Amino acid sequence: MPSAMQELFAAPLVRQLTARILVDGMNDMVLDYAIPDGMAGVERGSRVEVPLRNRTATGTVLAMGGQGDGWSGALRPILRLVNDEPVVSAVLMDLAEWAARYYAVPVEQMIRCIVPEPVRQERHDEKTRKVVVLQNWPDDDQLNKINRRAPRQAAILRLLHASADKREPLTALGGTPALTPCRALEKAGYVRIEEEQVHRDPAGSETFAPSTPLQLNPEQASALNSIREACDKGSSRPILLQGVTGSGKTEVYLQAARHAISQGKGVLILVPEISLTPQTMARFKSRFAEIPGGVAILHSAMSDGERFDEWHSIHRGKARIAIGPRSAVFAPVQNLGLIIVDEEHDASYKQENTPRYHGRDLAVLRARMEGAAIVLGSATPSLESLHNVHQGKYALLRMDKRADGQRLPLTRVLDMRTEAKDKRNLGILSERLRMAIDERLNKGEQTILLLNRRGFARALQCPECGYTAHCEYCALPMTYHATENRLVCHICGYRQVVPPRCPECHTQNIALEGYGTQKVEAVLRRCFPEARLQRVDADVTTRKNALRDILSDFRAHRTDILLGTQMISKGLDFPGVTLVGVLNADLGLNIPDPRAAERTFQLLTQVAGRAGRGDLDGEVIIQTYNPQAAAIQFARRHDTDGFAETELELRQMMNFPPFCHMAVITAKSEQEGIACLAMETLHRHLVAALPPQVQISTPLPAPLAKTYGQFRYQCTLKAPSARMLSDICSREIAALNCGEGVTLSLDIDAYSFM
Ligand code: ADP
Ligand code: ZN
Repeated sequence: MPSAMQELFAAPLVRQLTARILVDGMNDMVLDYAIPDGMAGVERGSRVEVPLRNRTATGTVLAMGGQGDGWSGALRPILRLVNDEPVVSAVLMDLAEWAARYYAVPVEQMIRCIVPEPVRQERHDEKTRKVVVLQNWPDDDQLNKINRRAPRQAAILRLLHASADKREPLTALGGTPALTPCRALEKAGYVRIEEEQVHRDPAGSETFAPSTPLQLNPEQASALNSIREACDKGSSRPILLQGVTGSGKTEVYLQAARHAISQGKGVLILVPEISLTPQTMARFKSRFAEIPGGVAILHSAMSDGERFDEWHSIHRGKARIAIGPRSAVFAPVQNLGLIIVDEEHDASYKQENTPRYHGRDLAVLRARMEGAAIVLGSATPSLESLHNVHQGKYALLRMDKRADGQRLPLTRVLDMRTEAKDKRNLGILSERLRMAIDERLNKGEQTILLLNRRGFARALQCPECGYTAHCEYCALPMTYHATENRLVCHICGYRQVVPPRCPECHTQNIALEGYGTQKVEAVLRRCFPEARLQRVDADVTTRKNALRDILSDFRAHRTDILLGTQMISKGLDFPGVTLVGVLNADLGLNIPDPRAAERTFQLLTQVAGRAGRGDLDGEVIIQTYNPQAAAIQFARRHDTDGFAETELELRQMMNFPPFCHMAVITAKSEQEGIACLAMETLHRHLVAALPPQVQISTPLPAPLAKTYGQFRYQCTLKAPSARMLSDICSREIAALNCGEGVTLSLDIDAYSFM
């Protein structure tokens, strides 16, 4: 018998174990491998080495196959188990699978979040790594020469020069491809390449003065008690901690974390990326200073090497507390006993590219899977969480007094309709606010000015009476589409002509709104030529550490006025600020988003919490064309309950979240016709496939009709359950073979409708 035949006949008799493996690499590659006889310990979540074409690759075991899944010889064998214990715990594997199904993404995408890039790139035998150290910084002339001849070498020099200790691991400079230019630089005497021990102690060089726990006030003490109880019982019923700004929530977190640690448990703390300031980090590191390396920080500005170290330190159980933004929900904290989600209402918990998961929601799920207690903290809780409290799913703890005994600032709402006629300030700065800023400058106090700017949707607003065009069916502002010169509702698709006059006051002055920070900056510089003014927006903060430097300048009072977008509203504590001005409270209201009012309310309340944190009383001035808007009036009175009640009623009436789940499907293409056609075809299929409880809008150009050269069309869906949306939509998207040149994306529980 020929040998091939022999093999074929023999094969079914050789029963073997197999495993399905996500092979590390740029693209999702899931392949089956055989587990060789005698290789013990391969489990779901294990990291393994496998042969891939003519090289060796690493991967994560997604699932174990049954016996006899493969032909002997047909499957290549796993070469080696990288770690004895599975690297991804069973709970995190479950979480990944659950999230993959809920958000309708391949499970590989979720695993990639759990095993971050630097950890995936780890090679088992790599106990050292290459670090490039700057030796000589060339003068401008030399640098220009290098730049012309070898721009990559110049770029590497600049990166090294910009880094704090003039050294970076090779991975931070671009990995292996950067080795050649680095070698050239070494030869020329500019840098030195060193081998460094990989498992350094990331906290080794920092020291933090230990801080002692504060004596809690009665509200804090009672909140802490409830959290400790949940921790001890392993109760994962979420606790919503609703505490006004300055009520001392952080102190409660610190003492709750202390309790969990003393019980031998691990703690996970999620914060909005933007509030992951050195200030927050130091507060935690100081409190737990007696456990060296006990607090691990994960954030996006970290180099690969740092992230690698912190991840391993958490995984080994050395770091007992992990702090990070939404992606930290996947941190491999051992024996997790407590999860804290600070500023739980914050929109940054939702990832806005695929996989579009919600960090807070996954935290709630993870707590349940791990039997850990979970606290969601905020001064302005999301309506989702408040709704869960009303339904009895979450417990509510409240702290209504400021811990530092400060009064909440006095808030004035300024009606811009009466100011609009004065053209000198272009309707940007009211006389009242201008005087208030002047007064602060004279007294040497500081001012924060907030420009509420979200997206680029343009609404129609009357500068004389404040009227804005709303959809008759959704009660949401309509968006102006220049191409067809129409107002369109982005939830239901209702269209309307642009009225030539204001329907309320009949002026012909009715106009499209919108201006940016740069224009405001110009106006401010004209009004206050002497003031030290700093603008903060996405343009300014692209440079690494820019935001940190700007904020430390402001803290040290090297700046008088800080002008910025939402970025400056969160978690910042500046004692010298006595005035907060909100330039255009309306802009956030006039966007086609069911959460527009909620976000505006939260923003105004949070930003008001920035004023008067020191010994001086604070003042807040809110400029608006819409002084009667509920979001503005309730924020003025610091009335979170009143706002929630009114807004929830409205949401229920309109069937918006939290009373339903919403999803957005977007088709993108460089050619408008293709994007439109794909969306229309998919829409037709969905209408046929979806059950009648699901509402679907007509396909429309997105409010952001074109981004990065791609035309965008979208559909909005509402359903009683998210599963109904993920299962059917992902099936129909996969079935719609729309070819190259167009991408379709599905956003379950969408937070952005742009
Ligand atoms: P929140 O996070 O709720 O906005 P913080 O935790 O930042 O509030 O606390 C506000 C201020 O009150 C901080 O300066 C903090 O040190 C102080 N503080 C908190 N708890 C107490 C307490 N029990 N006694 C005195 N001061 C406190
Ligand atoms: Zn009008």
